[in-house]
Amino acid sequence: IYFIFVSERGIDPSSFDTSDLFGTNDGYGIEYNRKLMSEASTASKEIPVGGMTWEEVEHQLTFDQNLLKNIEDNMVEENMDFFREVYSKRITEPKFSKLTYNEYVNSDGVRVVLGKDEYPRANATLLTLVRNQELKDIIHTLRQLEANWNHKFHYPYTFTNDEPFTDEFKETIRRHTVSDCYFEVIPPEIWNKPSNIDPDIEREKISKLTEKGVLYIDKDSYHNMCRFNSGYFYHLERLKQFKYYWRFEPATDYYCSVDYDLFKFMEDNNKTYGFTISLYDNPLTVETLWPVTLDFLKENPQYVHPNGAFRWLTENVQHPDYTKTTGGYSTCHFWSNFEIGDMDFYRGEAYTKWMDALEEAGGFYYERWGDAPVHSVGLGLFEDRSKIHWFRDIGYHHSPYKNIPNSDKCNAPEDSGYFSPEDVYDQNCLSNWIRLEMTNKELQTY
Ligand code: GDP
Ligand code: MN
Repeated sequence: IYFIFVSERGIDPSSFDTSDLFGTNDGYGIEYNRKLMSEASTASKEIPVGGMTWEEVEHQLTFDQNLLKNIEDNMVEENMDFFREVYSKRITEPKFSKLTYNEYVNSDGVRVVLGKDEYPRANATLLTLVRNQELKDIIHTLRQLEANWNHKFHYPYTFTNDEPFTDEFKETIRRHTVSDCYFEVIPPEIWNKPSNIDPDIEREKISKLTEKGVLYIDKDSYHNMCRFNSGYFYHLERLKQFKYYWRFEPATDYYCSVDYDLFKFMEDNNKTYGFTISLYDNPLTVETLWPVTLDFLKENPQYVHPNGAFRWLTENVQHPDYTKTTGGYSTCHFWSNFEIGDMDFYRGEAYTKWMDALEEAGGFYYERWGDAPVHSVGLGLFEDRSKIHWFRDIGYHHSPYKNIPNSDKCNAPEDSGYFSPEDVYDQNCLSNWIRLEMTNKELQTY
């Protein structure tokens, strides 16, 4: 097996079962593993066990420049090459010990397909925040979700809106799925700007960021949306009954069929969060998110998970100017317009207390803290990074970025490894996630 793995051409994953290798984590990977991952993944700072002190947290959050030394001069190109190399690997389903399907072969050798009322679903919902006028776009996406995945499992949908949904909206949705559909109006006290926001400070801050051309900065509803998605959707009455959610957005595309139950995957493999795309953010939108967070951590270092994704959060090589603007945060985040997550993580003590601190600081309105960086910083600090899963088998598009796997299950407009038009290559952060946070073993689960 060793010889197959170190061959120059890399491996053909279809020719053998890599699950033999699980349990070892010593880099018998294909070429990119050895060349590009080994330094970062072996140079890991010693992980303190148990609750961390502030000094230990501070140490973990100081990025070690040596980790990316051999590529620092040409980081965007190196990262894109690596990205394409990773995607060139032909994949099928993730090689986890347990995947759940909606069908099985019974003792008589007969294939049994479980229908909506028979299949034992996880406690989960597909979830979107959407406006009535986005009906056409949400149907566009819902049809793909149904065709590629949910027609097998019939998970319920929850549609949320700050205004009541029209009858036309509800009826049209119901014509496109046999799943249960919930239509929820977000109470104003959850959606609207909270009373601690000082209008004078807000006006001053926002006018500065408007001058600097920050997108959506003067749209009140966008700030409400970001805050709601960061800290409140999981407190909606309807959502209290669910543990897992899959967020989807109007006008996004899903290119690949997935035959296993993604929510059961989360449950059975003890995952908290799954994503497809990782990007940098405009640092001006989160200028004080990191300092406010560090102040919180100084008081509450015990919440930091010893195996957090510290290096991805603090990398400062591809965009040193970003890290400078934010006082130490790379701005790397999981793009949250697709995400599958465990809401109990957000409902937990660490995230809740931190969210209170964020609210007090007011950055959802004085700046434009997005739910993507907020989820990501929360997960990167308070959760075990091994519970964060890159769903590389979910072909996905939200303009202008795509996740395109190399798989028979996908019907994607571009070749695998396509990411975006060239002028935004520098916004790609996924290579950092792979290099700095994933183990070889994790990389080989597809
Ligand atoms: P972008 O992806 O950051 O450009 O933001 P979008 O315009 O796509 O908004 C993100 C999500 O929130 C989408 O699902 C929108 O439909 C939804 N959304 C944004 N603002 C509002 C709003 O004021 N009301 C409602 N109901 N949904 C909104
Ligand atoms: Mn969007």
